[in-house]
Amino acid sequence: MKKNILYISDMPADVALNAAEHNYLKLLAAYVPADLLKPGVYVEHIEHDDWCKIYKLGTCNCKPNITIETAITHIIVFKLRWRNK
Ligand SMILES: [Zn+2]
Repeated sequence: MKKNILYISDMPADVALNAAEHNYLKLLAAYVPADLLKPGVYVEHIEHDDWCKIYKLGTCNCKPNITIETAITHIIVFKLRWRNK
């Protein structure tokens, strides 16, 4: 089944255009089960390392902690932790 995703980011457009190269998007594709998210609105919290290149308008090169929650009820549906940050 094809999924349509509207992705809104607080990153500048030139960073977002590089989307396929970002580590955090690769991690989402690799670890979030395809059938986990029902249609709806979700908020992804991506906790990059302080040294991640994304903070210098580059491509994410760290392994960020990732949390996905429902937008309105704030129910956490997915967590990926590499370490305490
Ligand atoms: Zn990063």
